[in-house]
Amino acid sequence: MAQSVLTIDLGAICTNWQSLARMSAGETAAVVKANAYGLGADRVSTVLAKAGARTFFVAQAEEGVAVRDALGPGPRICVFGGHMEGDASLIRDANLTPMINSIDQMLRHVEALPGHPFGIQLDSGMNRLGMEPAEWSALRDIALSQNPVLVMSHLACADEPAHGMNAFQLQTFRQMTDGIDAPRSLSATGGTLLGPDYHFDMTRPGIGLYGGLPFVDALPAVSLSIPVIQVRDVHPGESVGYGNSWVARVPSKIATISAGYADGIIRAMGPKAHVWAAETRCKIVGRISMDLIGVDVGNVAETPVTVELLGRHQSVDSLAEAAGTIGYEILTSLGNRYARTYLDP
Ligand SMILES: *Cc1c(COP(=O)(O)O)cnc(C)c1O
Repeated sequence: MAQSVLTIDLGAICTNWQSLARMSAGETAAVVKANAYGLGADRVSTVLAKAGARTFFVAQAEEGVAVRDALGPGPRICVFGGHMEGDASLIRDANLTPMINSIDQMLRHVEALPGHPFGIQLDSGMNRLGMEPAEWSALRDIALSQNPVLVMSHLACADEPAHGMNAFQLQTFRQMTDGIDAPRSLSATGGTLLGPDYHFDMTRPGIGLYGGLPFVDALPAVSLSIPVIQVRDVHPGESVGYGNSWVARVPSKIATISAGYADGIIRAMGPKAHVWAAETRCKIVGRISMDLIGVDVGNVAETPVTVELLGRHQSVDSLAEAAGTIGYEILTSLGNRYARTYLDP
């Protein structure tokens, strides 16, 4: 079998959620947008609901429908994108809670689904989603009279604890919401780690559940094992892969492994990336192809049957560094071609 195996540790995801929940002053939700950062929103949501999560966040209404199908009635499923044109029947039928981002969305929501629960998203400085202070002042009394289930905002720099933007956004969020009755939420994983001033009534971790920074104490949640298809001797002066970008200087042993950029293994990381053959670190050589990658296994005692790209030896964040990106992008790029195995809690 030339299929790589992606193992997703649902127990580690539950443990990470519980660790963040112990840190959080109020309720701890779970962010499962983008198919739970690529790991499977149905499986992840189901185990987190069993572990005690009562509120889930997705980016788009369609994602919310999939999570509702997995969870059944009960848990609250909130949509960051709010109430978009054409969403009314999805929001009603799957009982989703849109986070209203503007006066236009508010009007659309109360007109299409009067009395249907909603939350409010405020912009405290990131300039991405939510109502700005002036818009909020205009709408505030009317919106609050409709009893929003949550009033939230989002931090731009929470992964840099010393960044002045954190205190600025905290102050802005307080100015916009102090004294209201509705529950409040400001923090994702990074903000949760900034301490209780940032927690309010609910934290909303995503990446920390899946083993990524900035939650340094997270348990790794994924491992990726890639089969070796062939091993060959390459003589000095011979090249490996497209464009002859790597040329052997000494007699070399090169394994061809069965995964490539079509699986989300970012092509640009090639020159800096490694895989592991049991306990030995092996360099990727030559260009990453669509389905294949060359690996120098000259220092491995026994010819490996598989190599590890993610797992015990290499985290999503160390791989991200080789690619000049972040763990979030490594996770959400994980391909559809892998055999996915779930370890139950
Ligand atoms: C993605 C997202 C989160 C979760 O962020 P992490 O950094 O993955 O914990 C929380 N809130 C909002 C608004 C988001 O977009």
